[in-house]
Amino acid sequence: MKKREFLLTFLVTLFASCGSVDKLHKGAPSAGTAEENVRYEDYFKNSTLRYDFHHTGNSRSEGYTFDAVRREGVWAGSKNALINPFEYGEQHFRIVDEQSGKTIYKNNYCTLFNEWQTTDEAARVSRSFAEAIIFPEPKRNFRIEIYARNKATKEMQKLHSHSINVSDYNIRPRGTACESIDIHIGGSIEHSLDIVLLPDGFTAEQKEKFLASCRMWSDALFGYSPFDKNRHRINIRAVWAPSPEAGISEPGHGKWVNTTLDTRFFTFGSERYQMVEDFQRVRDLAASAPYESIFILTNTDKYGGGGIYNFYGLGSAGKTGRTGEVYVHEFGHSLLGLGDEYVEVGNTVSALYPADKEPWEANLTTFVNFDKKWKSMIADTTPVPTPFDKAMLTQKQESLTLGAYEGGGYLEKGIYRPTPQCMMNQLRDFCPVCQKAIEEYLDYMCK
Ligand SMILES: [Zn+2]
Repeated sequence: MKKREFLLTFLVTLFASCGSVDKLHKGAPSAGTAEENVRYEDYFKNSTLRYDFHHTGNSRSEGYTFDAVRREGVWAGSKNALINPFEYGEQHFRIVDEQSGKTIYKNNYCTLFNEWQTTDEAARVSRSFAEAIIFPEPKRNFRIEIYARNKATKEMQKLHSHSINVSDYNIRPRGTACESIDIHIGGSIEHSLDIVLLPDGFTAEQKEKFLASCRMWSDALFGYSPFDKNRHRINIRAVWAPSPEAGISEPGHGKWVNTTLDTRFFTFGSERYQMVEDFQRVRDLAASAPYESIFILTNTDKYGGGGIYNFYGLGSAGKTGRTGEVYVHEFGHSLLGLGDEYVEVGNTVSALYPADKEPWEANLTTFVNFDKKWKSMIADTTPVPTPFDKAMLTQKQESLTLGAYEGGGYLEKGIYRPTPQCMMNQLRDFCPVCQKAIEEYLDYMCK
């Protein structure tokens, strides 16, 4: 896709061996404050339920069809963080207590399906993508409601509602777990961000190679602020699940590899866009460890990957170029939906970022509602918009002024980013706005 191809060009230009690939994502309104007083013990057991469905449609419409409800392991999220207050995501879902009508859980996310909706293929044919959401297991009968953002208004609208009887004998029991290996344990499951690293394309003989990649992923993450300061409340576990064959499929080159997750390059026609289409397979593996955030490491030296908010991040495990930095960049997308701060030269209009709507990403603004973004962090003496000079790209990062620089979200005009340099732009350190957003998201997840 256009924006991903650009990032590839951009990073290759800058760093020779880097390419990257990306996501897109949009936002969700916050939950009402009245719903935030939910006591976990009143409504939930200590286990996890998973709701499997297919996300179906084309470029003009989308809908949901039910697959199954599954029981999984211990609930890994905070029992004090049940209603996600952030306005992030293209979708959100609510768990509603049938007896009281109260929303007892809400979380936000984006999907690969929504990216596919922007492709030429979606204008010609309808498709269906397997998806799944997880939430703490309710004690009483409940209703699942899925909301998606209207393409024109960007407001959330309810597209799916399904009442579940908690004693339904069709709720599937927990599946057989794979081996889970601790990579870094900072704190308790309840009060930490629990990340699970999944392998794809590693054979039974390549376990050590996968675990070495996991340690490299962990070192890369803690090499950046604010993750370095939050080691005590981040847990990283690896799940070991060997694939029948080694490597990753490259359909555009006629190469097909039999792997556990069926990761493929050439997603939606973009060679470096390496993703898994079947998200239920991803959840199947992830369930072997307590988790809130998923990152997939693939057994290939070929550059590529992506990250989608509260869905999963993915990167090649081969040590090519600045692999560690790109892991962290993609994790910025998948953990809290940080937007790309780079510009696609010549790109002036995008359905993703209409000029009359404030983007939901914490690190981008159209000035429609700048008060809700980082306006208060800018010094009074700094002009807004802030003048940009190309020399700022090579200046020492710490000498740069926080402001609102035109260009970002792949667009040249009408959208603004906090600084000329950031992890979400040229794989430098996270800018102050991204750092603050990460801290606040961790505060919520680790409550
Ligand atoms: Zn940033």
